[in-house]
Amino acid sequence: MTERVDKNSSYLNAMSTTGTRTRVKDVSPTSGMCPICIRECPVLCEISLSSFRGREVLYPSPEYFGESTAASLKDYYLDWSHFQILSTVRGAKGIEENPDVAFFENVDIETTIGGIPHKLPIWCGAYGSTLVAKKNWDGLAIGCALSGVSIVIGENVCGMDLNSRFENGKVVHSDDMSYRVKKFREFWDGKYGDVIVQTNVEDARLGVDVYVISKLEVNIIERKWGQGAKAIGGEVRISDLDRAIQLKKRGYIVIPDPEDPVVQEAFKRGSIRSFERHSRVGMPRLKDFVEDVEWLREQGAKKVTIKTGCYRPADVAWTLKVASEAKVDVITFDGAGGGTGMSPVPMMNEMGIPTVHLEALVLKAAQILKK
Ligand code: SF4
Repeated sequence: MTERVDKNSSYLNAMSTTGTRTRVKDVSPTSGMCPICIRECPVLCEISLSSFRGREVLYPSPEYFGESTAASLKDYYLDWSHFQILSTVRGAKGIEENPDVAFFENVDIETTIGGIPHKLPIWCGAYGSTLVAKKNWDGLAIGCALSGVSIVIGENVCGMDLNSRFENGKVVHSDDMSYRVKKFREFWDGKYGDVIVQTNVEDARLGVDVYVISKLEVNIIERKWGQGAKAIGGEVRISDLDRAIQLKKRGYIVIPDPEDPVVQEAFKRGSIRSFERHSRVGMPRLKDFVEDVEWLREQGAKKVTIKTGCYRPADVAWTLKVASEAKVDVITFDGAGGGTGMSPVPMMNEMGIPTVHLEALVLKAAQILKK
């Protein structure tokens, strides 16, 4: 039986995401520590584990990476459970005001997102190069196509694909990207929803946008500025030395450095078991971004979208202003905090704006922009 999430700072010192627990349950609300912290403690709490194996508490249970998703354990004091759906006994919306017609099966919930018709108000994304996204792509893509909604292929898919081919530093073929686009299209009716390809700094450098527009006839390109799970670039874990070297050569930041002979020796001995592949943070500028969107349209992108994280309120307002000037079609604001398992636990818990709070900010900023 799971235990309820602790309020205040009590949750800080014992989390299922890191496999830690405290010796007693009535912990200090300020630090999460047992009120009497003893020398001969028989259990591992967050503090004791991080004091000698700190990296093990950085990521949510790495042994489940590729087979799990992860979420924050912090109680943000405002979430979906605080909302109620209020129905009315007078009139109807989305259907004729007629008791014989206004039956739930007849309700029309079609909508348009960025000018694209959707059978349901759902925009599903983004599923990038992480193992859990790759493994579940068929179910997600087919489900979205059959449901008439959109799905986003996330960042780094071409860069992580072992079978990608490059010419002059630009991608000209990727088995994985091609497979993902075709799998959606196989079940797509050509009208409702669409498949979107997301591009981060590395993807743009590798020419993923031009490749998918010109070779795979993708209509929509998403520029990525961040995600809700962490206000940094995307990450994955690599347990193969040759692959780590290959990714470094393709332009990714890989730590520890897989080309360092000392690191290679440590990996062969087993004292280093995996590498982290990091993506860069975009750091967009107004003028550059407006020109970038114009360039994407010249390349053939029918629509351009932004995916951003849950940055500070001034950045939320700035994002809306830039998007408005660049005339992008859709913005996705990703609320804190969860992901596919490569967001450090402290970042999932402590960084960014939770979804409900973020939606209020976005609404307020949009209202100001409208004036
Ligand atoms: S080390 Fe101290 S705070 Fe951590 S579980 Fe043991 S007694 Fe509690």
